[in-house]
Amino acid sequence: MKTVKTVFGPISPEEVGFTDIHDHVWKSGGMEVREDKDFGIENIGKSRDELIRYKKAGGNTLVDMQPIGVGRGINEMKEIAKDTGVNLVAITGFHRGSLYDKAHFVYKYTEDQIFNMVLSEVESGIEENDFCGPFVKHSDVLPGLVKCGSGYYKITPLEEMLIRIAGRVSAKTDIPIGTHTHVGTMGYEQARLLLDAGARPERIMIGHLDRNADFLMHKKVLDLGVYVQYDCVARVKYHPVSDTMDLIKRLSDLGYANRIMIGGDWGRASYLQSYGGEPGFEFIPKYFPDMMREYGISDEVINRIFIENPKEFLAY
Ligand SMILES: [Zn+2]
Repeated sequence: MKTVKTVFGPISPEEVGFTDIHDHVWKSGGMEVREDKDFGIENIGKSRDELIRYKKAGGNTLVDMQPIGVGRGINEMKEIAKDTGVNLVAITGFHRGSLYDKAHFVYKYTEDQIFNMVLSEVESGIEENDFCGPFVKHSDVLPGLVKCGSGYYKITPLEEMLIRIAGRVSAKTDIPIGTHTHVGTMGYEQARLLLDAGARPERIMIGHLDRNADFLMHKKVLDLGVYVQYDCVARVKYHPVSDTMDLIKRLSDLGYANRIMIGGDWGRASYLQSYGGEPGFEFIPKYFPDMMREYGISDEVINRIFIENPKEFLAY
C-alpha cells in the first residue's frame, strides 16, 4: 500500500489533510545560512511553536524542503514535530549547485555513487549527518520526496547530474520529486531532464514557479503532465498576491487544478512569528483559502490544491 513518509513513520494518504507542500522548520549551517544569518532557523522550541500555530490555523501536513548538505537536521525535525499533531515530512536529494562548496562531496563522486547514496536514504532512512562522514548512520526516517534544483537561467553540469539522479531514484522507487527553480526559471528544462531520466510526470513538482508569473510558460510546464508549486503567495516584495491568484484562477478554469500545489516557503527567521517575524506558517491555512474564494476560486479547486493533490503526490 502507498504511504506518505513522515518523520514519525509512514501514514495513510487519508491522514494527510491540509498541506503546506514546501516549507522549512530547521536550517542550521550550510552555505545559505553562512551568507545570510536570516536563513538560519535553529531553535527547536520556536520552530515547534510555529508548527503549533500552523496546526491551530487548520494545517495538518507540512513538507520541510531542506535537502542533503544545506543544514538539514533529521533528529531536530523529530523533536520539533513531537506533540504538535502535524505530519512533518523530511526529504532527500540536493539543492541548486551554488549552495555547495567546491570541497563538498557532490563535486568528488560519480553519478552512480551519489545515486546509490540517495537511494540508500530512500531504502534505509535519512543519514543523520548528511553524509558529512566519517561514519554513516541511517535514521529511522524515510524521506517523503527527493529534491533537485538549478540556478538562474542555467543548469550547470553538476545540477544536471543531480537532477538526473533525482529522476533515476524516482523511476526506481516511485518517490515524488520537488525542484528548486531560481526565480522561476528553467522549470520546463528541469521537467524534461527528469522525464528523460525515467521519472513519471505525476511524480514531478516544479518549485517556485510563481516567482516568474508567466502564464504561458506555466501552461507549457503543465502540459508535460507535471505539477507546479506556487510558494510566493504573500511575498509582496516580489509581486502582488494577485499574480499568483490570476495563475491559479486561469489555469484551474482550463482544467489544471489537479496539477497545482501551494507552499509557504517561509524559509527565513524573519518570516516566522515564533522568531519575531511575519506572516508565519499560519498565514496559508488561516487566510489564503478565503482570499482564493474572494478571487472566485471554487471550494472544489481549493480542496484539490490543498488536500487531494498533496495526498496523491506524496504517497509512494
Ligand atoms: Zn524553500
